[in-house]
Amino acid sequence: GKKERLDKVLANMGYGSRKDVKKHIKDGLVKVNDNIVIQNDYKVDPYTDNIHINGERILYRKYIYLMMNKPQGLVSSTDDPLTKTVIDILSEDYLNFKPFPAGRLDKDTEGLLLITNDGKLAHELLSPKKGVNKTYYVEVDGYIDESHIDKFQKGIILDDGYKTLPANLDIIEPGIISKVYLTIQEGKFHQVKRMFESVFTKVLYLKRVSMGPLILDNSLEPGEYRELTEEEINILK
Ligand code: URA
Repeated sequence: GKKERLDKVLANMGYGSRKDVKKHIKDGLVKVNDNIVIQNDYKVDPYTDNIHINGERILYRKYIYLMMNKPQGLVSSTDDPLTKTVIDILSEDYLNFKPFPAGRLDKDTEGLLLITNDGKLAHELLSPKKGVNKTYYVEVDGYIDESHIDKFQKGIILDDGYKTLPANLDIIEPGIISKVYLTIQEGKFHQVKRMFESVFTKVLYLKRVSMGPLILDNSLEPGEYRELTEEEINILK
């Protein structure tokens, strides 16, 4: 692979700022292929050289993939002048990778958000042409019954006249407040909320539970996140 400066590789991997890692190198804490290296600009191949810092082997990688259970109250962007973002709650270790959320959930929506720096994968997941299924758990103020299944399948006309693509409605519990799963293959602005508004009901609670083959790990509390497993990364690609 391509050779890069040792200090840059370590900083990119989250072992501190460029200044911090220079100090670690100067202090003799860094080994390359079992030899202590004290030059910051020593050229390494991060994929094939065996690099240790403080006895810990660094596993170089270019991309990170995090699954977050997005909590309410945060916005799905990388920075926002007014509101805390989903990036703001990540451990500093990940920030060097310049992660961004692949797709958006509203500020008051919870659930599955993929945070990555893999632009190609994000594009594939979000491209309207791919029609990746997104499933939401929804609590609705209003009666949702069998008659809606067909309507949602045939397409709902939204407030701006747009007709939605076939969506799959799965009723868990009908009632004054209905509980359903809705699967859509597109992602228009506030789409789920607007679909229910079109049938004279109102979304009270919205949580994304899956995106394509990726399923929200239900052990993640809102605000928690974890790295995707090797297997999860593979099924997404
Ligand atoms: N649809 C919405 O209305 N809001 C979301 O956050 C996601 C889908």
